[in-house]
Amino acid sequence: MSVETQKETLGFQTEVKQLLHLMIHSLYSNKEIFLRELISNASDAVDKLRFEALAKPELLEGGAELKIRVSFDKDAKTVTLEDNGIGMNRDDVITHLGTIAKSGTADFMKNLSGDQKKDSHLIGQFGVGFYSAFIVADKVDVYSRRAGTPASEGVHWSSKGEGEFEVATIDKPERGTRIVLHLKSAEDEFADGWRLRNIIKKYSDHIALPIELPKEVTAAEGEEKPAVEWETVNRASALWTRPRTEVKDEEYQEFYKHIAHDFENPLAWSHNKVEGKLEYSSLLYVPARAPFDLYQREAPKGLKLYVQRVFVMDQAESFLPLYLRFIKGVVDSNDLSLNVSREILQKDPIIDSMKSALTKRVLDMLEKLAKNEPEQYKGFWKNFGQVMKEGPAEDFANKEKIAGLLRFASTQGDDGEQVVGLADYLARAKEGQDKIYYLTGETYAQVKNSPHLEVFRKKGIEVLLLTDRIDEWLMSYLSEFDGKTFVDVARGDLDLGNLDSEEDKKAAEEVAKSKEGLVERLKTALGDSVAEVRVSHRLTDSPAILAIGEQDLGLQMRQILEASGQKVPESKPIFEFNPSHPLIEKLDGEQNEGRFGDLSHILFDQAALAAGESLKDPAAYVTRLNKLLVELSA
Ligand code: ADP
Repeated sequence: MSVETQKETLGFQTEVKQLLHLMIHSLYSNKEIFLRELISNASDAVDKLRFEALAKPELLEGGAELKIRVSFDKDAKTVTLEDNGIGMNRDDVITHLGTIAKSGTADFMKNLSGDQKKDSHLIGQFGVGFYSAFIVADKVDVYSRRAGTPASEGVHWSSKGEGEFEVATIDKPERGTRIVLHLKSAEDEFADGWRLRNIIKKYSDHIALPIELPKEVTAAEGEEKPAVEWETVNRASALWTRPRTEVKDEEYQEFYKHIAHDFENPLAWSHNKVEGKLEYSSLLYVPARAPFDLYQREAPKGLKLYVQRVFVMDQAESFLPLYLRFIKGVVDSNDLSLNVSREILQKDPIIDSMKSALTKRVLDMLEKLAKNEPEQYKGFWKNFGQVMKEGPAEDFANKEKIAGLLRFASTQGDDGEQVVGLADYLARAKEGQDKIYYLTGETYAQVKNSPHLEVFRKKGIEVLLLTDRIDEWLMSYLSEFDGKTFVDVARGDLDLGNLDSEEDKKAAEEVAKSKEGLVERLKTALGDSVAEVRVSHRLTDSPAILAIGEQDLGLQMRQILEASGQKVPESKPIFEFNPSHPLIEKLDGEQNEGRFGDLSHILFDQAALAAGESLKDPAAYVTRLNKLLVELSA
């Protein structure tokens, strides 16, 4: 036992304590994953060393093959993992094994329900990493030394996984990290060569460096203890370099879990090798579930970058656009230089062409998923649809392709689920329909019953119902799909084109003519509140409606601007009335100008309410309405 100096006891960050508690209580049904997590960390540590050694070969300290060793002691009930990777110094150990660095962690912890089944899913999304050691161990010792530091600067970290941990400085001749798990008495089954070998084969076969286990050697006669011989138990080659046909689905899945720190299988993947002017391999995955920090600005995103199989950096963000930030994967280039930096990546023209090729791969993969696995695609859309909606604004070149992947609620469904694609919509469009109709609003319940839909319902024309906050903004970037223009049914002078017969149009013109007098009276009565008054042909049941001017901002955009403290340009609605509604007929016949004014304002306010807006002067509305009610009952 080496001498320990500068010993101190420190407390875990609160979030670590919560995570530890939850993990131990939620992941008991899948205990063996602790080994996968620790091997994954060891493999990352070796990758980091290999990379840093490119610039500083002395870090390799005279060589030794890079590897991970897993051993066990049945009597002592321990499992030990040892790597000769980058290692940690005292400060590293205190931060990495005492806190959680992910942004948004505290908020995430608040979401946990205490229901173990639900929480185990959430924890899976969060990723548990090193702390998973405490699923099977009641004490964990970590001995580490950072490559390039003297042997005397080794560090020993030790904890029972409760509230605190100890650190001390030790002598550690070998570089890298050794982790000793003191197994809980019920978990001693893991101190077994056969068991460990199976777990490694199952979860870590794809790890690109050798994972060794001691060979079972029987002692030669007269010998007390045989010398340990090691054997490699995994395949130990980079998975993405192997031909697609030779990689099993399970291997792709386990590799995903390693790079994505996810517990669940991915929804889809795309593995490609590009040869020619540029040479690179890529393996891209669509996760099944959104990570808890998808909307955090600083959340990790981007691919793992390798250059000629050497790991170069995590979270290389330059290979995919922001709206595909949920994609996980690796890219291994033969063209980049090993000392490439983030700054260089941002400017390199090679990266631009890789980015557009990889983007296309992702969109193709999603198209395929949508086509072949519509149920899975529904799940994808629930998790990532909002992010995909950022696409048309960011990625002009792929606008049409992205539009094809979008899913909306529509008047065809009755539960507001976003399942209608634009291609489906067009496939069942009415004969002669050359537009894609949509309506935006606050909530599905509100738009579903909007008077704007009356004429569409009458004619059996489908309308997309867009109620995500981002939708109106999205639609400002989409003008057409498959050659058909988008039309906001609440905007401008709705022209149904070929969907209205010549007779309909003629009849409408005649009605409009006959109501010119009423239009003028309404203009005078409503005055400043409206931009225009006209006869509507969108209504069947409601007396009146407010339409938005062709160039004006809609309600959603106004609210977004207001919320961000920006000045919103003033715009007035267009008041449209339904000439055949009994209330309008009554209004037309009203001789008393005072009552005409009151009734007009009531209709105007009601139309605003139906559009989901709040009234500028609600008290005036109530007063007018009550006045009429009194007259009515008099
Ligand atoms: P994650 O791997 O998701 O970052 P972990 O909790 O598993 O989270 O690990 C925290 C950090 O501890 C790692 O990011 C790494 O910096 C460090 N670490 C863990 N295991 C090792 C190891 N075997 N060698 C060197 N550093 C390690």
